[in-house]
Amino acid sequence: MVFIRTGETGKVAQQREINRTIILNGFLRYKNISRTDLAKRFNLSKSTVTRLVSNLISEKMIKEVGSISKGLGRKPITLSLNPDYKKAVAIKIGVTISTIARINFAMKIEDYLNFSTPEDPQEFINNVVEGIEKLFPESKEKIHAIGIGVPGIVDNTFQNIVIAPNLRWKDIPLASLLGEKIKEHFNINVPVKMDNEANLAVVAEGMLGKKIGYNDLNIVYVFIGEGIGTGLIIDGKLHRGNKNTAGEFGHMVISKNGIPCKCGNEGCWERYASLSSPVSKNLGINLREEKIGTKDENLLKNLAYEISVGVINIVNGLNPDVIILGGPLITSKFISFWEEVKDEIVKNVKKYSITPAAGEVRIELTSFLDCPAELVGAGIWAFWDIFEGPVLSTI
Ligand SMILES: [Zn+2]
Repeated sequence: MVFIRTGETGKVAQQREINRTIILNGFLRYKNISRTDLAKRFNLSKSTVTRLVSNLISEKMIKEVGSISKGLGRKPITLSLNPDYKKAVAIKIGVTISTIARINFAMKIEDYLNFSTPEDPQEFINNVVEGIEKLFPESKEKIHAIGIGVPGIVDNTFQNIVIAPNLRWKDIPLASLLGEKIKEHFNINVPVKMDNEANLAVVAEGMLGKKIGYNDLNIVYVFIGEGIGTGLIIDGKLHRGNKNTAGEFGHMVISKNGIPCKCGNEGCWERYASLSSPVSKNLGINLREEKIGTKDENLLKNLAYEISVGVINIVNGLNPDVIILGGPLITSKFISFWEEVKDEIVKNVKKYSITPAAGEVRIELTSFLDCPAELVGAGIWAFWDIFEGPVLSTI
């Protein structure tokens, strides 16, 4: 099980803070849970849970929602995050279409708008301001923060886009520009932070996804869109690397002198396995129109094979518990297509992984079939300061 954490060790942290982090993250994962179940699941004493829960209730972060019937005897009262405690703005910058959403404290998307991603970042900022106007007609002061998922690399301050090759955006301080514009337009100070979209998606899967089990600590999310990005949770912690560039497996070179890539190299995995690759074109995949043209068995197998090449490298390099496939067309509408692709990938991975045990890695489709994991992750990112904290170890 994955917790949002700062990376500090438990030695310097107060036990109290550790327990508070565990309980808040427990509410994210289980949604409705009783005090008794919280104590049982996280091995905490009942008095600790009772004390921390009453603090959280008085802060209005959680609320009592009712009771679960458990046959005869006393019915325990369940609690959940209070959706109205605060709201945040979650934004997913897509290569073709972007989405802006209002998300509540229980991490539910309440409303959203799509717009075509403009070439000019300043125009993008204007679209976001218009979006906020529509999504928050009255209560802009309830906006806790803005979280943005970027199809590219964001620096360690989470304020600057270093490079987003498929958008052709480079060195853009988008977060601070947006923060200034919001201050000017609405006269409010709202923190804005960005991160790579696959990082945000893997956090959403790890925290809220249905495909993650109690013992899964090593999770790889493979975003298959215009390009390919991966988000890595290693030993229960988001792996960012030294300069926040980890997870660029899409630019792993799989063919010498191969197809040129927008990153400047040749033969990158994403040129063969993304939705803008030759095999995807042959399948009649059209991202803008959200279409998959043919279900030709051989072409489908070709796409699965191209995806498998990178997945096998990831499996052999990282030995994860689970690999999750997501992206703009991995949605309810195309579920049967992707189930078939996934089954082919499972076969290939079993065949080519370094040992049979490594090949037993679970390969799953995203839990977020109707609302992108990257968007939900952007919401979690906006609320991160509330949920983060030191934990001794993942549970
Ligand atoms: Zn590349």
